[in-house]
Amino acid sequence: MHCLNLKVTYDCTNHCSFCFSSYMKHTVLPLDSLKEAVLQGQRNGCNELVLSGGEPTLYPEYITELISLAVTSGYKKYIIQTNGYGLSRCEELVSFLDHVAESTETCLSFSVHGHTADIHDDLSGNPNAFRSLIDAIDKVSKTHCKIYTNTVVNARNISHLNDVAALLAPYKPEIMQFSMMHLKDQSKISVSLEDSVQAIKKLKGVVSPDILKTEGVPYCLLYGMETCVGESAWPTVLDLYNKDNDYRSDFKQLDYGMRSKMESCNKCIMNKICMGVWKEHFEEFSNMGIHPIG
Ligand code: SF4
Repeated sequence: MHCLNLKVTYDCTNHCSFCFSSYMKHTVLPLDSLKEAVLQGQRNGCNELVLSGGEPTLYPEYITELISLAVTSGYKKYIIQTNGYGLSRCEELVSFLDHVAESTETCLSFSVHGHTADIHDDLSGNPNAFRSLIDAIDKVSKTHCKIYTNTVVNARNISHLNDVAALLAPYKPEIMQFSMMHLKDQSKISVSLEDSVQAIKKLKGVVSPDILKTEGVPYCLLYGMETCVGESAWPTVLDLYNKDNDYRSDFKQLDYGMRSKMESCNKCIMNKICMGVWKEHFEEFSNMGIHPIG
């Protein structure tokens, strides 16, 4: 697939301290320029559209307009990354997405920070976040849309990943992803790469390897669970629109310095497809004594 990741808004109902987009929060993205980006994506050959943010469901009318335009432009798959806010409140949005999903693969990717309101709300900085999230997942589970989930591993949830999996299993997610947190500065919720990987490995036998995915963990750290490296299922080409009038074709996180690999990675059989680690984890990774595969 060739994917366009469109940042719909940087406004959000939550205030997660590990939010990757918070530094962009004053950026405004007018609907007309977002629509033009959808058309630019079509001209570039994109067939998958990701709507992310911020919280895109804060603006249901943006979602309906952008996906309607994408449908007429020939896109073949939609993913909306959400904390569930607008889906729990706007029946029309859920109905619209259900209708789209009848003919085109449509996935809602929910951010799940913990298995209890106590943990999720605390990490979200919003006392109603967990209620909205579960209500939204429940509503979407009764539609034709697919459910993806993403949990950023941190000090509050690292000992409860199996509980997160148990919470989500009844909703039959197609992808249950656990991601490495990448914060420039250490905080009280920071955890090491090694501890995060060990916690994810304990999910072997708990979560089906068909749906268990990671982000930010290279193959050499997931011996025996290589199929769970989430990046291996990513679209082959990613375009990015995260600022007004700034369409970036074939955006590669490694080229932009967001990820890092070791010098010895050029001897690894996975080098061509591996995206390495988040740059914030590189020092720890390079001290782990990892040897290239093969
Ligand atoms: S390319 Fe480097 S980081 Fe990736 S799996 Fe191989 S050794 Fe690990």
